Amino acid sequence: MSIRLYDSLNREKRVFEPQDPSRVTMYVCGPTVYNRAHIGNFRPVMVFDTLFRLLRSTYGEDAVVYARNVTDIEDKIITASQETGESIEEITTKYAKIYDEDAAAVNALPPTIVPWATDHVGEMLDIIETLERKGYAYATDAGVFFNVPQMEDYGRLAKRKPEDNQAGARVDVDLGKRDPSDFALWKFAKPGEPEDAIWDSKWGRGRPGWHIECSAMATKHLGKTVDIHGGGVDLQFPHHENEIAQSECAHGQTWANYWMHNGFLDMGGEKMSKSLGNVVLLNDLLEDWDGEVIRFAMLSGHYRAPLDWTKDLLEQAKATLNRIYGALRRVWDAEGGIAQDRGVRDALSDDLNTPIALAELSRLAGAANGAADRKDMAGMAEARAELLAAGALLGMLTRTPAEWEQGSDSDENARIDAMVAARVQARADKNWAEADRLRDELAAEGIEIMDGASGATWRRV
Ligand SMILES: [Zn+2]
Repeated sequence: MSIRLYDSLNREKRVFEPQDPSRVTMYVCGPTVYNRAHIGNFRPVMVFDTLFRLLRSTYGEDAVVYARNVTDIEDKIITASQETGESIEEITTKYAKIYDEDAAAVNALPPTIVPWATDHVGEMLDIIETLERKGYAYATDAGVFFNVPQMEDYGRLAKRKPEDNQAGARVDVDLGKRDPSDFALWKFAKPGEPEDAIWDSKWGRGRPGWHIECSAMATKHLGKTVDIHGGGVDLQFPHHENEIAQSECAHGQTWANYWMHNGFLDMGGEKMSKSLGNVVLLNDLLEDWDGEVIRFAMLSGHYRAPLDWTKDLLEQAKATLNRIYGALRRVWDAEGGIAQDRGVRDALSDDLNTPIALAELSRLAGAANGAADRKDMAGMAEARAELLAAGALLGMLTRTPAEWEQGSDSDENARIDAMVAARVQARADKNWAEADRLRDELAAEGIEIMDGASGATWRRV
């Protein structure tokens, strides 16, 4: 089955055909690194990681080039630097590292390329110069702007008519814009702004606008036309619309062949936003929930639909994953099977239908339990292989069933390991009273010790 993707620009599901199957390109707008990202920011991370996994398994691991940028220069970063006294580099390095750790905790593979905006200012200036030369850009006292009415088909992605672009806007006299919908390509430095936020240009000292950053980084690393461009639906306008305008007017070719946008995350029916005070950080969620549970919850909804993020959703995800890992434990020792089931792959190939893919994963767990009940060794080996192959596509089942049942708190696990080892020693010393005391103490915490030929292991019950 070929891969079909819903293209937000053409408003239809289309068979995915990369320009070059040996170099499939995908660009996703990454974080602006000045604070900890909220769980809604990680929806595209998990969604497009799932797409990355599907493409890698279809075209080959080295044939897919996935770039996700870091925006390390932006007004909010400058404000954070002025407020905290930390340099821009200190702030962006710190929060980029936390972002990477959070992404790894939800089993997102590192992208192939992670370009940082400040390493690409030269490329941004080159595109701005091309736009000026072709008559699409002009300088004012405030900066360099893209002149939207110069582009005949501006607004194709967000389906906005020229009058929508005008509505409610007024020409900002201070900026000297020719049209209200014109947007900044380059912003001149204002007095008092930190030196580490200022670059030289032929128009004057300043910094790039946000939109030109992505156009320059994606062009440099992926080419003038990318196969797939993704991001949250909130980026469709104006960010992606403006990326199209800059890139297509500068290069004269289609900017992205497939546009993919994930829906919002709601909190109890309301949009998650700072102004509503209902923002949940992934970093905080990871204190209470395993990253794989968070990923399962996130992928339980279709990526294009809004998803209501609730504690119930997380609890259901945890219960389902416990059942699936429980089935995997029953077939764990039956190695050597070959995976052939296409249920999960076919569901993902149909515009990343993760709800159906997760239902297929549960079905495979049921087959594992059935084979284990029948003591069907060949069936068990096959079920183990199917579960692990499906898990690899979804970014799940990345641990052994024993590791899963022990949980992910390494300090806590080390403490329990030490108690189990002390009990083994007590038995070796024939100190039965101490061995029983340790067993009872662990049992009171819900830890079951399993004595086997090769020593003692434990699990939470
Ligand atoms: Zn972008």
